[in-house]
Amino acid sequence: TTESTRELLLSRIRDVRDYPKPGVLFKDITPLLADPAAFAALTDTLAELCVRHGATKVVGLEARGFILAAPVAVRAGLGFVPVRKAGKLPGATLSQAYALEYGTAEIEIHAEDLSADDRIMVIDDVLATGGTAEASLELIRRAGAEVAGVAVLMELGFLPGRARLEKGLRGAPLEVL
Ligand code: AMP
Repeated sequence: TTESTRELLLSRIRDVRDYPKPGVLFKDITPLLADPAAFAALTDTLAELCVRHGATKVVGLEARGFILAAPVAVRAGLGFVPVRKAGKLPGATLSQAYALEYGTAEIEIHAEDLSADDRIMVIDDVLATGGTAEASLELIRRAGAEVAGVAVLMELGFLPGRARLEKGLRGAPLEVL
């Protein structure tokens, strides 16, 4: 990412204090999505990463990951596969539970959407604790595919997301714009 592109993208992310609850600094990407030049620059940048890392498909993490991953998939000429919260996909799914600060969450993928020939780039907006991305890597490997990498717009540096993800990446890249 060039410095001017990164500056453009980061200038379009709004910090919202105490949302959705006190103590959380929420990174709102809706100003970026509403700016066609910024959205196009982000799409192009992520699509280039997918090509560079030899991805064959793009996985988007519900919900904001969908918004970013879908145009990237089209731009890079790759398939798009959603990872959804449990109970939303109608076909035969693989499920992965993971720990949250309080309690657990569960995500799913349609097993038939990935094959042993696939290399998957996982895309989301924000890497926070890394729990969701880590669980998605489990799903991808259990579906028999390879991990090409994880790409996010930004990471919350004060959370241990990168460290949590490290083991699951098994040497694959974590790309932060
Ligand atoms: P994680 O804790 O890394 O599993 O984060 C799960 C999801 O929550 C990510 O897909 C982000 O989209 C979202 N998220 C977590 N923390 C924030 C935040 N501070 N601002 C915006 N989105 C967040």
